[in-house]
Amino acid sequence: MSISRLARVPLRTSSRTYATTAGLNALAHQKAENISANWKGTSATGGNTKNYIGGAFVESKTTQWHDVLDPSTQTLLTRVPETTMDEFDQAVDAASQAFKSWSKQSVLARQRFAIELQYQIRQNADALAHSIVLEQGKTLADAHGDVLRGLQVVESAVGITSNLLGEKLEGVFSRDMDTEVRKVPLGVCASIAPFNFPAMIPLWTIPLATVTGNTLILKPSERDPGAAMIIAELCARAGLPEGVVNVVHGTVPVVNRICDDEAIRAVSFVGGDRAGRHIYERATRNGKRVQANLGAKNHAVIMPDANKNLALNSIIGAAFGAAGQRCMAVSVVVLVGAAQSWLPELVERASKLNVNGGFEKGADLGPLISPASKARVSGFIASCADEGGQIHLDGRNVQVPGYPAGNFVGPTILEGTVDMRCYREEIFGPALTVLTSDTLDDALSIINENKYGNGAVIFTQSGATARKFESDVNVGQIGINVPIPVPLPMFAWSGNKGSVLGDIGFYGKSGINFYTQNKTTTSLWRHEDAIGNKASTQMPSPPIQVFLTTIASQVVIRKRQDYILRILQTKKIPYTSYDLASDEDAKRLWRRKAPPDKQQLPGILVGGTFPGDFDAFEEAVEYGELDTFLQLNDTWDTIVDEERPAPEVRPIGVPGAVPIAQMTPEHHKPRIFPRDPDTPLKPVNKLKDFDVSTELEGFGLQGVRVTDEDLRLLVEELGLDGDDAEDMIRSLGGDGNETDKKSSEDNEKLDVKDATTSQDT
Ligand code: NAD
Repeated sequence: MSISRLARVPLRTSSRTYATTAGLNALAHQKAENISANWKGTSATGGNTKNYIGGAFVESKTTQWHDVLDPSTQTLLTRVPETTMDEFDQAVDAASQAFKSWSKQSVLARQRFAIELQYQIRQNADALAHSIVLEQGKTLADAHGDVLRGLQVVESAVGITSNLLGEKLEGVFSRDMDTEVRKVPLGVCASIAPFNFPAMIPLWTIPLATVTGNTLILKPSERDPGAAMIIAELCARAGLPEGVVNVVHGTVPVVNRICDDEAIRAVSFVGGDRAGRHIYERATRNGKRVQANLGAKNHAVIMPDANKNLALNSIIGAAFGAAGQRCMAVSVVVLVGAAQSWLPELVERASKLNVNGGFEKGADLGPLISPASKARVSGFIASCADEGGQIHLDGRNVQVPGYPAGNFVGPTILEGTVDMRCYREEIFGPALTVLTSDTLDDALSIINENKYGNGAVIFTQSGATARKFESDVNVGQIGINVPIPVPLPMFAWSGNKGSVLGDIGFYGKSGINFYTQNKTTTSLWRHEDAIGNKASTQMPSPPIQVFLTTIASQVVIRKRQDYILRILQTKKIPYTSYDLASDEDAKRLWRRKAPPDKQQLPGILVGGTFPGDFDAFEEAVEYGELDTFLQLNDTWDTIVDEERPAPEVRPIGVPGAVPIAQMTPEHHKPRIFPRDPDTPLKPVNKLKDFDVSTELEGFGLQGVRVTDEDLRLLVEELGLDGDDAEDMIRSLGGDGNETDKKSSEDNEKLDVKDATTSQDT
């Protein structure tokens, strides 16, 4: 059996016996007891890890269990179920149900959860760290770092109220047409985590998935799920409703089910290449959105001008911290030029690191996750020598007092070339491979040709060198005198090349994008359709006032006023209409505002000004220039008349005047004498003046006395011509019956233009 195959074999209690809690030393024992006593979903004293489904920690009915052993002592801490398919379905159902209400919660409610969760994590950071040390093996300080890096994502999720803001562009195509983008949740999402950051990686996904309104199925590593179970309980304590986060356990069958389940919309994966490629392909084939962070080989370049102390210490920390089990661990160092002479010092400093149990004071690195992992790392070390490389520091036979059964490998420094296995493959242990190069260009070529692209760092005191490095190196996360350049959660994870699949990174803005889909709405709400808005308050609609007469005797006048109304109504232009036949205020307003030479009816006042005659109105309609004619885009004063506030705009279709369709038979009664075709039109006696009497009273002209010439002018002013004009003239004075002799004094006073401006219209 190959080493990598061995690493995949689940351990079964049925075939093995382990040390019980008695195997834990005093430092670890009490912490293990506390975990079992205080947390519902996990155990550190040999009990079973639970599924977390619909807000309940439930014992699995599975027959297949994975044993989690303390990597320092091989003590059985907990048994992790291979969640059954029934249980998996229950988790997905719970998440689907919860999505219906959780996605509709206010953003503030979801933000509140993130705020509470960060508090809960801070309060319980010790418990989380203890669980991590027990199950994963890292040192206590490192375990706290694991919690802290996850906590930072929770803290960034609190900013959801700003980060979820949509976008809107007004007037995209026409004046009142707006397009709006909103970010809406996807639905049920899933997260598959690796063993090396038991708290941080679940916290890369839980906070952002939930604050964006999604629900989540989390599958932590079957090798150390304790921190995830504690976090699930903290979510509940922070007020997260049942079913929003669910935790299932297991290996390939459960992972495959995640990739296949139709209800799951998106999958986040962090782990090794093999699982990652499989999950990415299977889940995307099933139409899911997938983000996958895979393996890495991170290079550090040490330039001869580097601050030696900073460079060597940084590299040692980044290569051997967490026993090299970090995806951003420095696993290759390229010594450039004269920096090659620093190798002995690097070896010497690395050899002084304290390899120990994670709870031990002063421990620099703990054990590897499993005996299989130890065997694998040891195999890589051996391969270096086999392939002609040099082992400058060999950690294979490290002895750790008090922990004879631990999976310890001490700091190891290999010197090799780019064609060796120890360089090409991810070792994921405390083994640093040293390469040498003469120039920065050579170092850059090495890095850029490597298949992975998580990170690369340079140590130099030259800004120019650093600048060249950052612009020419092809990896996603660059450090300049910074050994582990993981971006904080206000940024997004940005590994590239073979270290990622999918193109929407974890956390930061990318995280929000991953967990949301854009929805655009394009709407048209014509502002002029507004009803009930007061023209006289802050934002008046154009105060268009239409002056009509309900008793216009002339067909052409009736047609014209009906035409005006129809146009305004069809174009949905708000207006107020007045009846000049009955509204004394309207008459006064018309008299005051209509220009003396435009005293024709019907008429339109806009914003207190007369914008043009009927012909201009018709022209504006014909040429689509009604906006200009009616000055619709102008800023309007709220007061259109010093004596009279702007009238309230009434709903369309309720004009003050009676349109033709609503006229009573009385309105329709023709007031014009029918023309006798046999009687030629008699010339109007130009010397006579006469009272226009009832014929024009509908226009407010009753009682006006006019001469024949005035009469002609008046008829012209009314916009009448042709037969209509003749009919009108004949009806008023054609047979001379209406003439009346008046003094010239009277005539002066009754000049038609004065009359129409000084008397009621
Ligand atoms: P892993 O691939 O063995 O396991 C990761 C997850 O996938 C686990 O939940 C596991 O149950 C599941 N899994 C494992 N094999 C599977 C398979 N064949 N099919 C389906 N699912 C499978 O990874 P690991 O050993 O737990 O973690 C270490 C790896 O993770 C390293 O390669 C490391 O570089 C990588 N990692 C990458 C990042 C990153 O951000 N790039 C972060 C942490 C870890």
